[in-house]
Amino acid sequence: MHGAGKGIAFVICGPSGAGKNSVIKRVMEILPGLSFSVSYTTRPRRAEEHAGVDYNYISQQEFDRLIADGELIEHVTYLGDRYGTSRAQIEEVFIRGEDVILNIDVTGARRLRQKGLVDFPAVYIFLTPSSLDQLHDRLKIRGTEDKNEIKRRLNVAKEEMDALWLFDYLVINDEFEVAVDELRSIIITERCRLVDDHG
Ligand code: 5GP
Repeated sequence: MHGAGKGIAFVICGPSGAGKNSVIKRVMEILPGLSFSVSYTTRPRRAEEHAGVDYNYISQQEFDRLIADGELIEHVTYLGDRYGTSRAQIEEVFIRGEDVILNIDVTGARRLRQKGLVDFPAVYIFLTPSSLDQLHDRLKIRGTEDKNEIKRRLNVAKEEMDALWLFDYLVINDEFEVAVDELRSIIITERCRLVDDHG
């Protein structure tokens, strides 16, 4: 909730393997009043993920229906799988008087920002390790993707890093605690803002 009394959407982007989920999770533990926007996806659930917590896992047909019913504020196809953000969920968070965190890809963020699809304040934050080498190491350690998939994700990451101009803030995640502190500070700062000039 910001100084002008509205809920804020914190749109967090960054390459796959940047550590977005861990940083977001930690910030949500230490900062009250934040809800995570659980996206819909057609991708299979990873072993360590939980339905309804990390994603809502749905079929292609269900995804098509959500689009047709106008229930997604944005959606993309990322490396063959579809991902989309629920309008109803965000509205519910704001009704509760909380702020919402979206973890989406750069294409989705660009659409939200450029087409003005949202009628609520949104802050765009890019979170990334300082180098692609670091990213490669992280993806390897995470171990949820094979060699080819890592390569594909690194290629997307290169493209995503060219889109930095879209964002209001940059958080470098080389040291976890520093990244957590920076994201937390950004959220606190935006909550104190009086003038609603979010993009
Ligand atoms: P992953 O398969 O690694 O969980 O996610 C792949 C990419 O899809 C990540 O960059 C993630 O931020 C993005 N993503 C997840 N949910 C959404 C969504 O609802 N919309 C968009 N545009 N991207 C999403």
